[in-house]
Amino acid sequence: MIQGQHLIAGCWVAAATTFASKPIQGPAHRFAVGTPDHVDAAVKAAEEAFWSYGYSGRAARAAFLNRIADEIDARGEAITEIGCQETGLPEARLVGERGRTVGQLRLFASHIEAGAYLDRRYDAAQPDRTPLPRPDLRLIQRPVGPVAVFGASNFPLAFSVAGGDTASALAAGCPVVVKGHPAHPGTGEIMAQAIEAAIVALDLPAGLFSLIQADGTEVGAALAQHPLIKAVGFTGSLAGGRALFDLCARRPEPIPFFGELGSINPMFVMPAALAARGPEIARGWAGSLTMGAGQFCTNPGLAILPEGPEAEAFTVAARETLAAVAAQNMLTEGIASAYREGVARFRDKPGIKSLFVAESGSRSAAPSLFSVDAETWLADGDLAEEVFGPLGLLVRVETPEEMRRIAQGLQGQLTCTLQMDAADTQAAKQLMPILERKAGRLLANGFPTGVEVCDTMVHGGPYPASTNFGATSVGTMAIRRFLRPVCYQNMPIDLLPEDLAEA
Ligand code: NAP
Repeated sequence: MIQGQHLIAGCWVAAATTFASKPIQGPAHRFAVGTPDHVDAAVKAAEEAFWSYGYSGRAARAAFLNRIADEIDARGEAITEIGCQETGLPEARLVGERGRTVGQLRLFASHIEAGAYLDRRYDAAQPDRTPLPRPDLRLIQRPVGPVAVFGASNFPLAFSVAGGDTASALAAGCPVVVKGHPAHPGTGEIMAQAIEAAIVALDLPAGLFSLIQADGTEVGAALAQHPLIKAVGFTGSLAGGRALFDLCARRPEPIPFFGELGSINPMFVMPAALAARGPEIARGWAGSLTMGAGQFCTNPGLAILPEGPEAEAFTVAARETLAAVAAQNMLTEGIASAYREGVARFRDKPGIKSLFVAESGSRSAAPSLFSVDAETWLADGDLAEEVFGPLGLLVRVETPEEMRRIAQGLQGQLTCTLQMDAADTQAAKQLMPILERKAGRLLANGFPTGVEVCDTMVHGGPYPASTNFGATSVGTMAIRRFLRPVCYQNMPIDLLPEDLAEA
C-alpha cells in the first residue's frame, strides 16, 4: 500500500535518494527524498492547473472538497493504523483528528457555496456627481495562485497533507504543493492518495495537488522561493518558521508566509476564582497541559497566580495531578530530546523552583512543573519561550500590578485565558486591553486545548504565535489567507468574474 514516492501532478515518482520512516511500532518504510527539480515540476503543474481551477465555479470546488472527505473516510482504517505507528498518538486521537479533518473539508465546501466569503462590494456609478462623476466600482476576492503547505508534525491529519491549510487553499481556488513532514510520511502518502482519487473521479487537472516527501530543508527552501508560489502555510518551530519567513521576504517578489511558530498560552488565575476553586482549576490546567503529551500549539504552559496559601493549594493539586500522569509517546525523537533539553534548562536556572520533574525517555515525555516569582520571570526572557511538551511554569505574583506587568511582558500568543469569578470582574477588566493586544483568542474559565473549527475561530495572533496577525489558520476565515481583493472599474458585465456577475 505504501509506495514511498512523491505524488507530482498525478504521477507517483520515485527518487534516487530515500529516507527511512521512524515508526514507534510496526515496519519502517523508505520514502523518496525530494529535490528542487521535483519542486519545479510540481509548482509548474500547479500553475497550469490554476488557469482552470482558479476560475472554476464554487459548486465544483465544493464537490471536490466533499469528495476528498469521502475518500479520506474510505481509507480511515489504513490512515489510523499507519498514523498510530508513525506518530505514537493513540488510536482514539487519530480517529478524532480524522473526524476534524473531514469536518473542516466539508465546512469549507459549505462556506464557499454560501458565498459570503467573497465579500462582494458594489459602489454604483454616479455620472452626475460634481465636481467629478463616480465610476461603477465592484470588488471581489480572487484566489492568489499556487500555495505551498508544510505539513505539521503535531497534527498528522488536521494540519498536514489534507489539513486546514490545504482545505482552505483548495476552497479559495488555489492549487497546493505540500512538503510532507518526515515524522509521518506514510500517513501523508495515504492522505495524498485520497486527494488524487478525488481529482481523478471529478476529472480535475492533475497539477491541482502534489506531495513532495523529504527529510531535510532543501525541498522546503526551494518551494518557498519558487517564483510561481504565491503564499505559504506553515506550522512548526520558531527557528524553522522564521528561516522560511525570511526566505519569503527576501524573494525578488516577496510573498506572504502564514506561519504558526509558538505560543505558551498563559492562564491568569484571578484572586476570587483561586480562593473559590483553586485546586479544581489546577487539576483542569494539569489535564490540559498533559493532553497529547503537551504537543498542542495551544498548550497552556504558563499559569500566573496571586501568592499566598491559595496559591499553595493550587500548586499541590497541580503537582499531584501531574505526578499521576505517566510518560507519553512523543511525535519524534527530536521533539522528545528538545523537551528534555527544555526541562534541563529550566531546572538549572537560578531563581526557579523545581516542583516536579520525572525521567523522560528517548521518545517519551513525563510532565514537569516549575515555579518562579514575577521579578525573575520578567528578568529572564528565556522563560517566556515555548518548551514543546508537558512543561508547566507557575509565576506567583505579589500584586495585581505585577500581574499586569507579566501580561505586558508577554510575546504574541495564540490564546490567553482568564480564570475568574464575578468578584474578579474589575481586576479582569484591567487585564483585558493588554491581553487583547497579545493573543488571537481570549478565554474565560476554560482551557485552550481543543480548538473549535467554525466561523468565529481565530487560531493566530501577534508574532511569534503567527507571522501574520491578521490571519487565522483554523476556521472558515482561514480562506482569506489565499485570496486577494480585486476592484473592477467600469468593467463590462461579460468581463467580470462569474461570482461577481451573478451578484
Ligand atoms: P520544524 O523543525 O519547524 O519543521 C517543520 C517543517 O519545516 C518540516 O517539514 C521541516 O523540514 C521544515 N523546515 C524546518 N526548518 C526549515 C528551513 N530552515 N528551511 C526549509 N524547511 C524547513 O518543526 P517540527 O519538525 O514539527 O518540530 C520541531 C519543533 O517545532 C518542536 O520541538 C516544537 O518546538 C516546534 N513545534 C511547534 C508547534 C506549535 O504549534 N507551536 C508545532 C509543531 C512543532 P524537515 O523536517 O524535512 O527538515
